[in-house]
Amino acid sequence: MNFCDYEIDVEGAIKSIQKNNWKTILLQLPEGLKTHAETLVEYIAEKIPEVTCLVASDPCYGACDLPCSNHLQSLGVDVVVHIGHTPIPSMQVSQDVAVLFLNAKSKKPVIPVVTKALPFLTGKNIGVVTTAQHLHMLSDVVEVLQDNGFKPFIGTGDKRIFEPGQILGCNFSSARTIQSSVDSYLFVGSGFFHPLGLILSTNKEVVVADPYMDTVKKTELNDVKDRVLRQRYGAITQAKMAKTYGILVGLKPGQQRIKQALQLQKMIQEKGRKALLLTVDYISPMILQNFPSIDCFVSTICPRVAIDDHLQYKQTIVTPVELDIAFGKKRWDTYVFDEIF
Ligand code: SF4
Repeated sequence: MNFCDYEIDVEGAIKSIQKNNWKTILLQLPEGLKTHAETLVEYIAEKIPEVTCLVASDPCYGACDLPCSNHLQSLGVDVVVHIGHTPIPSMQVSQDVAVLFLNAKSKKPVIPVVTKALPFLTGKNIGVVTTAQHLHMLSDVVEVLQDNGFKPFIGTGDKRIFEPGQILGCNFSSARTIQSSVDSYLFVGSGFFHPLGLILSTNKEVVVADPYMDTVKKTELNDVKDRVLRQRYGAITQAKMAKTYGILVGLKPGQQRIKQALQLQKMIQEKGRKALLLTVDYISPMILQNFPSIDCFVSTICPRVAIDDHLQYKQTIVTPVELDIAFGKKRWDTYVFDEIF
């Protein structure tokens, strides 16, 4: 089935629903595709009218964000149809409710913008990375690079990564595994969200080839990186002076880092300061406002909250890596992006 510029295998999901005799489904769509929920529900109702279809209205930013299986069971949901992301293989998923992941494959051609990006690449050995939406076009990108005298590398990520060459906003392992072999990276995809994490994780040049805007970006990304690093330096300075810390512990299945949260609590307490463990599902400024005695929050949930969303919050939020720097356990010049493994 086609949605704007994306192809989604809804027909395959319908076959699975029929085969498994599932009667109640929950559709989970990312923010950019929620406007198509009605079309999708009508399409499913036409094909399998005996099935009840619910739509998750809560925000969904990644495959990490599956709904709580207890809630689903009490609603009688048999299967979650999660659209727009590939699975996270290492994520612990409840066996009580089935989950079907349907990737949204972009139909935008990538070759024109990749060709445009070639003069901006540093060196000949190029690491190629992308997001789930363009994975099916990676072999075309490799071909273009080879035809133009480059040596492309595609890395296999850790267990959080579904396919070689794929990066998530919280995991760049497929780039790091080829880091010593490549001179720079080519990111195929849109925006600075993924490339910013990539450049902070690998500390190598990144060229962004955006098939949606048909633009190539390199210096702009370096500017964003410098601005973010300045802001993070300020946050670390604030974190050093805090007396009471709130450690955010994720409830979403793919954002749970309780072991790390407990280690952080121990580290803070050993410094003679206070640390409260706070569970959180959907983080918002309102939630943090309820804890006025906390001077600094340490996020073990999605790392992008501290890095990208800081303007929304009055309070200081740092990542575990940044708290290590604040406490003198790591040096600022070794700063790397906080990743979930
Ligand atoms: Fe995306 Fe954050 Fe979830 Fe990672 S933890 S998949 S960056 S929403």
